[in-house]
Amino acid sequence: MDENIQREVSDAGVAILTFDRPGSTANIFDEGTLDELNEHLDFLETEKRLKGLIIRSAKSRIFVAGADLKIFTQEVSAERIAVAIERGQKTFDRIARLPYPTIAAIHGVALGGGFEIALACDYRIASSDSETKVGLPETNLGILPAWGGSTRLPKLIGLPNAVEAILSGRQYSAQQAIDRGMVDSVVHREQLTTAAGRRIQQSAGQKRSQRTHISNRPPLSQMIKKRAEKKAAARTHGHYPAPLKALEVAYASLSVSHQQSLENEKNGFIELALSETAQNLIGLFFLQERAKKLQIPQELGPAPAAPVQAVNRALVVGAGLMGAGIAQWLSSRGIHVILKDIGPAPLGTAMQTIAKLYREAVKRYLLSQVAARNAFDRILPIFEEVPLLQIELVIEAAVEKLDLKKQIFADLESRVTSKLVLASNTSALSIDAIAESLEHPERVVGIHFFNPVHRMQLVEIVRGTRTDAATLSAAIGFVRQIGKLPVLVKDSPGFLVNRILLPYMVEAVRLFAIGYRIESIDRAMLDFGMPMGPLRLTDEVGLDVAEHVAKELESRVKHLAPLNDTLGKMISKGWLGRKSGKGFYDYDSRGEGKTNSQLGHMHPAEPKTVPEGDLRDRLVLVMVNEAARTIEEKVVEAPEEVDFGMIMGTGWAPFRGGPLRFADHLGIATVVSRLNNLRDRVAPYFAPCQLLTEMVNRGGTFYPQRKPLPSTQTEPDP
Ligand code: NAD
Repeated sequence: MDENIQREVSDAGVAILTFDRPGSTANIFDEGTLDELNEHLDFLETEKRLKGLIIRSAKSRIFVAGADLKIFTQEVSAERIAVAIERGQKTFDRIARLPYPTIAAIHGVALGGGFEIALACDYRIASSDSETKVGLPETNLGILPAWGGSTRLPKLIGLPNAVEAILSGRQYSAQQAIDRGMVDSVVHREQLTTAAGRRIQQSAGQKRSQRTHISNRPPLSQMIKKRAEKKAAARTHGHYPAPLKALEVAYASLSVSHQQSLENEKNGFIELALSETAQNLIGLFFLQERAKKLQIPQELGPAPAAPVQAVNRALVVGAGLMGAGIAQWLSSRGIHVILKDIGPAPLGTAMQTIAKLYREAVKRYLLSQVAARNAFDRILPIFEEVPLLQIELVIEAAVEKLDLKKQIFADLESRVTSKLVLASNTSALSIDAIAESLEHPERVVGIHFFNPVHRMQLVEIVRGTRTDAATLSAAIGFVRQIGKLPVLVKDSPGFLVNRILLPYMVEAVRLFAIGYRIESIDRAMLDFGMPMGPLRLTDEVGLDVAEHVAKELESRVKHLAPLNDTLGKMISKGWLGRKSGKGFYDYDSRGEGKTNSQLGHMHPAEPKTVPEGDLRDRLVLVMVNEAARTIEEKVVEAPEEVDFGMIMGTGWAPFRGGPLRFADHLGIATVVSRLNNLRDRVAPYFAPCQLLTEMVNRGGTFYPQRKPLPSTQTEPDP
């Protein structure tokens, strides 16, 4: 039988458990692994000659990635969850009770259950490798650490650091972990086992005694809890119950017995896990996993037999905002980049931007100084004729003008082999139109990054009507290589994300023009769960960019609401949003974030006030309607892709599961009746699309119905 954990015992009486899940690059705690671990514990508890235990992993990038979340893909029930939680708690308690020193020798990712097993050990030694990351990310999935993590971490590192780690779900590098006491020492990867053995020797058979932290006692602990509560409430807008619940459990762990605290962890976990929020957040986790395994569509036939070659050298044409961001990201992933523009000035600015991005990455411990320097040096800025001989992929990110792009592609085609993939980062132009007059249009594809490139994980891969299987496979392989998450979309106006987002931004601008206050519009959407309001988003995107994409969409999608002249007027004053210092908000003034006081004349002096639900309906349902149209028009294949794209590409209220999951939640009949109402009262463009109307008639939903949740944790429907 294939084993997940190997055991050996050294001559010195040190047992070593090595996690090495067969046929996988990751270790996880599934039922089988826990069974095996318990069998090893039977031995470890009874074998008299043992002096210590080392737990390690044989994988190159993962220690243990956490518990197997598959339990959530089946039908969840309080009973099933309770069994799974108790199982893990009991197993890790057995490790904690072993009568000799125990050490986790961590190389690679140790998250969730993977870090909780390490917490059950006496000591933690981490490798200095950049792959090594520790943390408890559960609250990001709407649950809490319940295999002892919420109980053990506050005792180990003190309440303030524990609360920060648990409530943020952050992943810490080895250096950050040692600064916080989450690990005891950091050594080179090759020295891990030796260092662990030495530590056991030094302990002379003694278990480690617990340190007391002053911050874990009242009144300090109470103050810390209060502060954390306030911070979490501000951050979650009341939409994410997990951080507050985790805080409650972690805080209580300081004053109750170990057993009681584990019980609290379990009860808190069950309550959270059964909520719609956790189901949506865990659902999102699986959508991310699904995106990592994206394949070319079946109708294109089998994927090319030869595996996609990793790209070592790429050409990025256009060194503006996006070109600079793309070049930086590619170089950080080890790719040599030629960055091409028409003159030295844009290249100078781009290299400054890139240098700044690298400085920030170093400051945030994402890269070492040396790694950042090397990555920066992989970029060659150039404005003369580019040598293309060794280039393996081209990404064009020049100005958004069809004629210019066609010319760039024609020029490239005349100078490279017919196989080289030519990708465009266009936001809204048609890939077919760009490829139209080429000799080999089958090699053209859209690889659409989002701004800012280093932060946005989503990349739309745009399939033109003539894009072939080899090109698509290469694009998917490339996006995977650079660690982004792809969604495959049809060549259509605005593709997926902009198609849904722009009508929403246009609607927000209309609401402003008819008298709603900027603050009310943005507040309504923050309260709904968006990371920022639509007018602030327009400022971030740039008013000129937003107007351009909106106009392009308007010219190609007939039912859309026409753009009014507000953006045009603002642009003519030089107000382009954040980048120009003014837009809907004023970025020059002290206390950034004040609304632009000179906007008064652009909308009625008398502020409009409406029931808040109305404002929210107009903004949200315009997106839901457009999202349904992307399914109707087969821009993507499935509702999951729409929801995934909107959450990853725009931060669309993740706890609601995306616009189509939200439509199901609200009820399709309600969506349609509210849209009809808006059509009658406000404007014809609110008319529900055909698919939605049809769905009401046949009682359809976008997703298979979930079983009604036993939990009462729901919000009133917005
Ligand atoms: P930008 O105006 O900041 O940069 C465009 C750059 O292209 C300029 O530096 C310009 O000098 C250069 N350029 C013009 N002609 C060129 C040529 N013949 N050869 C090489 N370089 C040339 O634009 P941007 O915002 O970086 O957008 C670039 C592309 O990315 C556009 O297609 C845009 O639609 C798309 N895009 C933009 C965003 C965004 O948020 N700005 C997001 C996703 C995609």
